[in-house]
Amino acid sequence: MKNINETVKFGTPEISILVNYSDRAKNYSIHISNINNTAKLTIPVNGSYHQAITFAKSRETWIRDKLANNLPEISPEFGSEFLYQGQKLIIKKSKDRRVYKDENALYVSCEPNQLKGKLKGFLKIQARDHLDFISKKYSNILGRKYNRLTLRDTRSRWGSCTSKGHLMYSWRLIMAPPEVLNYVAAHEVSHLLHLNHSNQFWETVSYLMPDFEYHKDWLKKNGQSLHRYKL
Ligand SMILES: [Zn+2]
Repeated sequence: MKNINETVKFGTPEISILVNYSDRAKNYSIHISNINNTAKLTIPVNGSYHQAITFAKSRETWIRDKLANNLPEISPEFGSEFLYQGQKLIIKKSKDRRVYKDENALYVSCEPNQLKGKLKGFLKIQARDHLDFISKKYSNILGRKYNRLTLRDTRSRWGSCTSKGHLMYSWRLIMAPPEVLNYVAAHEVSHLLHLNHSNQFWETVSYLMPDFEYHKDWLKKNGQSLHRYKL
């Protein structure tokens, strides 16, 4: 057994993986510890470090998903941090009935036990506003109308589009940076033209949003963190 205190780091935001040589292992493998939520890369003693890193990098999305899924849930309360349009805001109590925000805080007026419900209501209204607006804009550009737009709280997908032109989105997208929400809309609205992920489909997405790759990547790497907030 060689030294196990080596750490490799890569990606943005950076992830750290503990490297471990094992004389019993036959293959490269990655294990996520539930105890301290760390990723561990095992290299067989006769394996190559370089190949092991290539292997770990090829599984970056899987590692990020696992680490994010293991993160504890966040239960919003007055004074705690909240995510809205990619910004971290402190939840503050206000006297105004409407929910509003400034650069640093989100102001809500209610009793502590009503906070989650109030935040969820606010997110849904905002998500609908933004998703309606951007979906309409993109659908006008493509000259294809959609029939319905519904919001859900889905874990497996951020949006969908049916052959009948029915769009569905996760309202949690309003917690992500605005461009990320726009990307999901560009993606789903492009399905009004192409009900597949063909080259023409991706060309349509890129026509609507030339820098979409960057935002698609953000969602892949950070999307799971939006589910941490218990509402
Ligand atoms: Zn799709």
